[in-house]
This record gives sequence, C-alpha cells and structure tokens, in this order.
Amino acid sequence: MSADEKFYVSYNSVHKICQKAAADILETQGKPDVIIAIGGGGFIPARIIRTFLKKDGEKNIPIQAIGLSLYEDMGTGQDKIGKEVIRTQWLDFGSLDKHFDSLIGKNILIVDEVDDTRTTLHYALSELYKDVQNKAKELDTSSSGTKFSVFVLHNKKKAKRAELNEEQMNGGTYLSGKDVDDIWIAYPWESHDIDAHTEKAKAQGNY
Ligand code: 5GP
Repeated sequence: MSADEKFYVSYNSVHKICQKAAADILETQGKPDVIIAIGGGGFIPARIIRTFLKKDGEKNIPIQAIGLSLYEDMGTGQDKIGKEVIRTQWLDFGSLDKHFDSLIGKNILIVDEVDDTRTTLHYALSELYKDVQNKAKELDTSSSGTKFSVFVLHNKKKAKRAELNEEQMNGGTYLSGKDVDDIWIAYPWESHDIDAHTEKAKAQGNY
C-alpha cells in the first residue's frame, strides 16, 4: 500500500474486531463494570463491544461518553486542559453516582477507534485516574481496586508521543484489534458513500 493511500475499514470488520476483542477482554479482565467511550470515534466500537461483553439475561454495561479533541496549536485559552487535548465532554457524575456508585473499585474499559500518537488515550487515562483518586479521597475510601483497560480498533505502528501508565491501569490491559502501518484510516462512519467505501475496504481485505 502506498503512503498516500488510505486504509479503508468496513462496518463488518469493525464488528468482527469488537467481537474478538470482547472474547479477549472477558478472558483476561472479566466483564467490565463500565465502558467509557471517547467520542466520536469510540462511540460505535463501544456500543458494538457491549453486545459481546454481555451474556443473555445480564444487565447492559453502562456506556459513558467523553469527548476529547487534539489541539495542535498550544495556547493558553481557558478551554484547553492538559497539554494538547481539549475536553469537549466529560463524565456524567450525577448519573454515575446515582445509578452506579462512582467509578471507585470498578473494572473500567476505555474505548477509542485509533491509537495514533497515544496523546488522547494518555490524557483520558490519567484524567480518569485522577478523578477516581479525588473521589476516593472525598469519600475517605480506597481506590486501590480500580482497574483501567483500553481497547482500540487500530493501533498505528509508530513512535508514540505519550505512554499509558501501568500503575494507573492497575492490572488492566491494552488491546488493539489490529496493528497497522502509519497511514490514514478511513472509518465507515465518516463516509459519504458507504457502498464505495465498503468496496474499497473489501478490495484491501478489511471486511
Ligand atoms: P492520538 O494521536 O491522540 O492517538 O489520536 C487522536 C485522534 O486523532 C484519534 O482519536 C482520531 O480521532 C484521530 N485520528 C488519528 N489518526 C487517525 C486516522 O488514521 N483516521 C481517523 N479517521 N482518525 C484519526
């Protein structure tokens, strides 16, 4: 594949990657208590993987959506939190506390579509970890049982700008559906012509 060519991914292949990943996660980590989807790319994989993480008769795993954008131009604006990442949406603590007793002690699965420079995942993990620490302090309890795992559909094989802190993951695992070369991945939910997109994905074997 040439460098200027895109890697086309079909809905079908996304579904199959999620199915396989769910089996791996159930085996290594057990069923997550909550899924945190990084939007917008993590929303659809998060919803699909939930299907395969749940057995018949079990309750649905709650999905919390967070929104993060990478900010290339470093500035000092108020809306920029962290180094290069902007929070556009964060956890719904009201709902978490009311229905779910916070994230403390939970088996948490963070889902995004692609791990490119790893900046976004690093930010999400470290901020969620901080939130749990703060909440535990507030409640005068221990956060030691809290575990974070990460699932992405695709991981780009390249030098990363940030790493995931294993201590923060606390035994949680990092799982990528597929490790791919460092080229642009075209996801089906971004396509304006899904038939042509799917044909290209098929031609590349991503079906
Ligand atoms: P990061 O560099 O922080 O790992 O990735 C930041 C975000 O950039 C991803 O969540 C994704 O939204 C976007 N991104 C990075 N590489 C690609 C790609 O190849 N295709 C698409 N569609 N989005 C990408």
